[in-house]
Amino acid sequence: MNPDSFRPPNRILMGPGPSNVHPRVLQAMAGPTIGHLDPAFIGLMDEIKSLLRQIFFTKNEVTFPVSGPGSAGMEMAVANMVEPGMKVAVCVNGAFGGRIREMVERHGGTPIVVEAQWGKPIDPDALDRTLSANRDIKLVAFVHAETSTGARSDIEQLSGVAHKYDCLTIADTVTSLGGIPVKVDDWNMDVVYSGTQKCLSCPPGLSPITLNERAVDFIKGRRTKVQSWFLDIGLLVSYWGGAKRTYHHTAPINALYGLHEALLLVQEGGLENAWARHKKNAETFRAGLAKLGLKTLVSEDASLPELVTVVVPDGVDEAAVRNRLLEKYNIEIGAGLGQLAGKIWRIGLMGYTSNEKNIKLCLTALEESMRKD
Ligand SMILES: *Cc1c(COP(=O)(O)O)cnc(C)c1O
Repeated sequence: MNPDSFRPPNRILMGPGPSNVHPRVLQAMAGPTIGHLDPAFIGLMDEIKSLLRQIFFTKNEVTFPVSGPGSAGMEMAVANMVEPGMKVAVCVNGAFGGRIREMVERHGGTPIVVEAQWGKPIDPDALDRTLSANRDIKLVAFVHAETSTGARSDIEQLSGVAHKYDCLTIADTVTSLGGIPVKVDDWNMDVVYSGTQKCLSCPPGLSPITLNERAVDFIKGRRTKVQSWFLDIGLLVSYWGGAKRTYHHTAPINALYGLHEALLLVQEGGLENAWARHKKNAETFRAGLAKLGLKTLVSEDASLPELVTVVVPDGVDEAAVRNRLLEKYNIEIGAGLGQLAGKIWRIGLMGYTSNEKNIKLCLTALEESMRKD
């Protein structure tokens, strides 16, 4: 093979993830690989845990990045919190809620679905009705930012309803962490996982997770072993914590250099400023879309600043516009998933991607690409 056979193009990543990576993160990842039990690496692990606690707004001891993408964090949450035969309320208003339901089934649980239309948030009253009618449910799972539709659910309220019925909770914050507030302790959330490739300006492949004591106690009291060896939190805590670290697996060393740098960047810029920037840029973008006569799928009060879903106008070829954006403008945007395939574009304004220059270019590119000539 020719040594030049692959050179990644420099794209503007405005899809549902990954988003563009901050150059400092890429640079950090190019550092020399060291051993994963090297004292220097253990120092790095401790810093990452402490930085993650800051962005999750938590004091949880068990807070670390799972070696795997957002879906691995999701499966870790489900694998540890679901025992065979358990009934689990799963809130489904898009593809990622559907994925949790599928995982609950595969780990031997019985999902009881609390559904909302795709594009709408989960209604806390609907969860309340489900829990009131099924008093044997002791676990509730929900998605904060449903990246398949662009809708944001109020997970603080959902968490309140779940605890009223003495349930533990799993929250997916893959597309929210770093883009909109996620306050694990204030919102009384038990298991929360995220991802690096959405609003943290970091490549895909890691999944920060945090568990409070209630969740850890539940896992300690399980009747059955966690079905996955790799995702068993009980085994991982002595790799990511404790006085003496023991080998579990070989952590993705250089990927963790990247996450560390990305978390430092968030700390330097200020998390509140990051939320404000995502919000302001989304407002500018939505105003621009309205000027082009384009409609968004999600009502303003439930819309995510980091992912805007645009309704494809009648008579416009959805895929052709997306291809033109990529070929002519070097911009990647996302297509609809599942029941929204062909009907929407998913445009991400996440992390390093969320800036005015990208917004202007994307609006110009959309306008030009939709014009019939
Ligand atoms: C992207 C995403 C995931 C999955 O993350 P991967 O890194 O693709 O595995 C899970 N949940 C939500 C809400 C997401 O947006």
